[in-house]
Amino acid sequence: MSVSYWRLRDRYYRIIGSICDSCNYESFPKFNTCPKCKSHDISDKEMPHTGKIISYTLSYESMPGFEHELPMSIGLIKLDNGVNIVSQLVDSEVEDIKINANVKAVFRKINADGNSGQIYYGYKFKVINA
Ligand SMILES: [Zn+2]
Repeated sequence: MSVSYWRLRDRYYRIIGSICDSCNYESFPKFNTCPKCKSHDISDKEMPHTGKIISYTLSYESMPGFEHELPMSIGLIKLDNGVNIVSQLVDSEVEDIKINANVKAVFRKINADGNSGQIYYGYKFKVINA
């Protein structure tokens, strides 16, 4: 587990993004300057743990360390506050993974240190209205 992962673990375990204190723009991951109004008055904001799938992809090719998770589904999720987040979808039947399916965050042990460094997330999402 890399040092940078542990430094960022709050982002990954609690889905901490930012909210602009000037215009209320919210985004994940955190930002230092509001992309909408350029304000530097930014606070941490825990993102909602529920949302809907707006796009997804199923991968039948594994990344190292994920061979047992095929097919791997990656969803683009619109959280209840309108912020988009990309996450692996887990604990869901392939046929339940569809556009507009409701999802919620689940928190998981990281199962790969990943030489790619790409998947270090503590959160994943699962379909809840299937
Ligand atoms: Zn702003």
